[in-house]
Amino acid sequence: MKKIAVFPGSFDPFTIGHEGIVRRALGLFDEIIIAVGANALKKSYFPLETRKEMIAKVFSDEPRVKVDHYEGLTVDYCINKGAKYILRGLRTAADFEFERAIAQVNKALKSDVESVFLLTVPEHTPINSTIVRDIIRSGGDASKFVPAAIDLKRYKGGED
Ligand code: ADP
Repeated sequence: MKKIAVFPGSFDPFTIGHEGIVRRALGLFDEIIIAVGANALKKSYFPLETRKEMIAKVFSDEPRVKVDHYEGLTVDYCINKGAKYILRGLRTAADFEFERAIAQVNKALKSDVESVFLLTVPEHTPINSTIVRDIIRSGGDASKFVPAAIDLKRYKGGED
């Protein structure tokens, strides 16, 4: 049976940290669905469709990576897609504490979906979407923090 993992997140925007996790996880799974959480209550800087388009560009040459979005519980989405794994990246101890709680609750909700964590490479540890958004808002060049396939100048962000 195909090993499918869901990589859920806001990806506002997708960074080289996210890309690194997905590319390394391709060695563990047959298919990875990058699933942008569409939370009606949580405002985003880049619109949902823009975020999906950016991610699709990064993996245009990788048929084993799909891009989608979802609402509702991540575990329900996984079951729907036949995915037995949730992929997440860990940068710091703070990430670990946050992810531990989510993963343990997800496990309690649906025991047959396993969370799998990859530690980021050291050089990606300080990179997060909030900092990238702050650089863009302040008129700086954030291109070195996003995958080369994403041309930030082409996309307009809004208020988050
Ligand atoms: P969320 O809003 O769900 O935290 P994010 O888009 O911020 O969504 O992150 C999605 C996943 O990517 C999380 O598991 C997060 O820990 C991981 N991640 C974010 N930045 C990095 C990075 N620089 N290196 C490795 N993993 C990262």
